[in-house]
Amino acid sequence: MKSIKKPIVIVGAGFGGLTVASSLKRLNPSLPILVVDSEEKFIFKPLMYEVLSEELSMWETAPEFSNIFSNLGITFLRNSLTKIRFDEKVLEFCDELIISYELVILCTGSVSNSFSVKGVDENCYFFNNLNDLKKLKSFLQKFQNYTTKKNLFVIGAGPSGVEIACKINDIYKNKFVISIVEKSNEILGRNKIFNREEAEKALERRKIKVILNSTVQQISDQKIRILDDSEIKDLDQDVVIWTAGVKPNLSYINEQVTQKDGRIQVNEKLQIENYINSFAIGDIAIIKGMEDLPVTAQIAMQQGNHLAKNIELLFQEKDLLPFDFEDNGEMISLGIGEASISALGVTLSGKLAFEARRLIYASKMPDIIKSLKSTASWLFQKKSTINNLINKKP
Ligand SMILES: Cc1cc2nc3c(=O)[nH]c(=O)nc-3n(C[C@H](O)[C@H](O)[C@H](O)COP(=O)(O)OP(=O)(O)OC[C@H]3O[C@@H](n4cnc5c(N)ncnc54)[C@H](O)[C@@H]3O)c2cc1C
Repeated sequence: MKSIKKPIVIVGAGFGGLTVASSLKRLNPSLPILVVDSEEKFIFKPLMYEVLSEELSMWETAPEFSNIFSNLGITFLRNSLTKIRFDEKVLEFCDELIISYELVILCTGSVSNSFSVKGVDENCYFFNNLNDLKKLKSFLQKFQNYTTKKNLFVIGAGPSGVEIACKINDIYKNKFVISIVEKSNEILGRNKIFNREEAEKALERRKIKVILNSTVQQISDQKIRILDDSEIKDLDQDVVIWTAGVKPNLSYINEQVTQKDGRIQVNEKLQIENYINSFAIGDIAIIKGMEDLPVTAQIAMQQGNHLAKNIELLFQEKDLLPFDFEDNGEMISLGIGEASISALGVTLSGKLAFEARRLIYASKMPDIIKSLKSTASWLFQKKSTINNLINKKP
């Protein structure tokens, strides 16, 4: 076994970073691991909708990194990476701190992508991190006392757009006329058919308007301009929430690492090309030959677990193994008390799915907060668990 003096540095402690750190610690407790994140708290993004609706409180979904990592016996540093010098194996941080590493694992996730559409940054709310959540929540609260309905637009009919539209409708009953604007000809284009159909029904029941085949051209403080077929329309808006896309958070990359679609290209062992001691996982990484994988917590966690095993193999001077994605399905929240699940051949919708989703997440949250013992795929438990839930419920 090779011994190392410098630490393994993990930059970004979201789903990928947290998983690789805790798995590595479990596999080899003597390894020196340093985790760095620019934020104070982890955010369990799939449950942000429930924080907005106050079905869950902030503390339940956003534990402090210092608590998580002290429980795991891993050193945590709050700092923001600004530059990497791959050849020298050196990281530079925003306060001029410099750290040398033995191995580096990059997992800095995504930020919202406004695609340079005019007025988006200035006039839209986003829903990608804790700050976005707090900002949107406090802004929407002022509409509680309004008596006339306001126009709320959600841009993008992916999971985030559909989930947030349903949730806001249920929280702020009769306060908003909600419309989702989508540039393609369907909602949830990359999701499971069952979830798409359930989402369509959920939107219809709530009278949420879906404007398909429409591209947002510009957003001002009162109007939203969309191009629908060949016609330009200026619509009155009171609130616009932009969920149309994300881009990898890679502001610190200024060297010639191979990138594809703006993401760092890694080989199937999750190594960055030309830098075998450097790895990238989660939303920032694209695996050569597996370019179609979506950016999800499920994938970030599977990659985290896989990478921990590969690093252990590296120290044993054995060959690293290729990553293989196991599709454990997906869960979508559809308003207060409703959800849709399509996982491992099982489909569930409505209140039962909401309860199953809540139990699946709830059963895993304490692991994150207390010790992260189980970093296996806790987004989706195995079919047997879901079957048990079905059998228990009326
Ligand atoms: C509202 C919402 C709902 C979602 N729902 C689901 C779902 O139901 N199922 C699912 O599978 N996926 C879901 N996702 C997607 C999922 O959350 C992401 O794919 C996942 O978080 C990616 O993991 P990651 O480790 O790559 O990045 P993240 O989890 O985003 O973590 C990145 C970390 O890096 C840190 N960081 C960034 N830059 C720096 C820097 N320069 N220096 C130091 N630290 C830095 C950040 O602070 C953050 O903690 C959802 C996303 C959102 C926004």
